[in-house]
Amino acid sequence: ELTEMMMKSQPFRKDIDILYTGSLSPPIPSTYQKRYLKKIMDLGEGHFGKVTLYKYDPTNDDTGELVAVKVLKQDDGYMAEDLMKEIEVLKSLDHTNIVRYKGCCTDPGRKEVQLIMEYLPMGSLRDYLPKTKVSACQCLMYAQQICQGMDYLHSKRYVHRDLAARNILVENNSLVKIGDFGLTKYIPEGDIYYRIREGGDSPVFWYAIECLKDNKFSFASDVWSFGVTLYEILTRCDNRQSPPTKFYEMMGKAQEQMTAMAIVDLLMKNRRLPCPRDCPHEVRLLMEQCWLEDQGKRPSFENLIVRFEAIRR
Ligand code: ADP
Ligand code: MG
Repeated sequence: ELTEMMMKSQPFRKDIDILYTGSLSPPIPSTYQKRYLKKIMDLGEGHFGKVTLYKYDPTNDDTGELVAVKVLKQDDGYMAEDLMKEIEVLKSLDHTNIVRYKGCCTDPGRKEVQLIMEYLPMGSLRDYLPKTKVSACQCLMYAQQICQGMDYLHSKRYVHRDLAARNILVENNSLVKIGDFGLTKYIPEGDIYYRIREGGDSPVFWYAIECLKDNKFSFASDVWSFGVTLYEILTRCDNRQSPPTKFYEMMGKAQEQMTAMAIVDLLMKNRRLPCPRDCPHEVRLLMEQCWLEDQGKRPSFENLIVRFEAIRR
């Protein structure tokens, strides 16, 4: 079963292995030396991290590989632990629709940690969609690929907790991958929830109702956030229709303080994001099911994959 999964997720790399080394998985260099990293350009930043494009060029002849390197924006000890956790999670994952871990770079003297991953040249969906013409069919393909990555993540008992277009990376016009595992948490067998303890600003407009009310994160709350991500994809990440813009419109500008409470109010009254223009009826139904108050009634990613396959046929 494992071999089958690996063949599905990386047929090309497996071929190479059989040809050249005969081992099951390719050797992944896991320690990079900082002095060989040559900066090319900034790629982006989120709440916690800053990602930069480097060329790793130990032979110093410009033949090196391009890698994306994530560091923390603020380097206090507390956050460094979070990045170490993110590295541990990413290291254990192996799927076509999840960004590939390449290694890490630690600088013991300065207590700095760098996460080294594959570079995805088209950036995040949030950068890519507004400036590229993407057909409805491609949108649904991206959505299905996200579900495939998420189904795998859930099979490993991780909840992502930060699924949003800004955290989906684009390899090319027919392949997207889930990136940013900074908020990912492991749910022990038997438990259903992860309760957050940390405060700080959170992506509230993507959160399920139970996350906002009780800080309870579950597999079903990832499905809710997927619904919001699907909405973003179908609106091609247009800023004027973004989830924050639409929720602020619904609640009236006066409510900008206490946002989470105001969103709960709206959701409890069964208000939801509007149906994107030209959204097929079946897709609209599916999105609405992701946003059902009763989490037991939301579909699983496994189920969503089957439904996208049917819709795309
Ligand atoms: P944060 O945890 O701070 O949100 P992310 O991991 O989401 O950081 O990265 C921030 C941004 O950097 C992303 O939205 C994307 O634009 C860019 N980025 C991240 N990883 C890569 C990558 N592997 N290749 C290309 N761009 C990336
Ligand atoms: Mg992010």
